[in-house]
Amino acid sequence: MKAVEILNNHKIKRTSCREGIIEVVMTAKHALSENEIRERLSGNYDRTTFYRSFKTLEECKIIHKIVIDNQLVKYALDNTVTHKNEHAHFFCTKCNTVQCLDNVTVQKYKLPDGYSDFETDVLIKGICVNCKNQNKID
Ligand SMILES: [Zn+2]
Ligand SMILES: [Zn+2]
Repeated sequence: MKAVEILNNHKIKRTSCREGIIEVVMTAKHALSENEIRERLSGNYDRTTFYRSFKTLEECKIIHKIVIDNQLVKYALDNTVTHKNEHAHFFCTKCNTVQCLDNVTVQKYKLPDGYSDFETDVLIKGICVNCKNQNKID
C-alpha cells in the first residue's frame, strides 16, 4: 500500500509531510522514535509542521505509539493500516531497537469483576536475534 492510499482510506488530506512520515515508518525495519522519523524525512519541514502532521497521523490511528519508558517512545504503523492482530512488542536492551512481533498475539486477560479494558500493551524486554547471533561469533 502507498502512503497516499493510506491517507485516502482514513479520509485525511494528503500533504507531503504526512506522506513522508508514513513512508519512513513503512520502510523502517524497526519502530522509530519521533526524532528518527524526522531525521529520515527527505523533505525539509519546520518543527511545527512536522509535529502537527505527526500528531494527526497518531490521532487518526495510522501510526501507533509503543512506550518503552518515559525516555523512549517509538512508533510503527497501526493495526488499522497493516491489518495485523494486536501483537506484542519486543525491546532489545542491547541494541535498543523495538520491533513488532506480528505473530505473538496479545491474549485477553481475565479481569476482576467490574473492570473493563480497552487496551492491552505487551512489551517484552530481552536480547534480539541479531544481538544473540553476534555474541556467538565473539
Ligand atoms: Zn538487539
Ligand atoms: Zn506494533
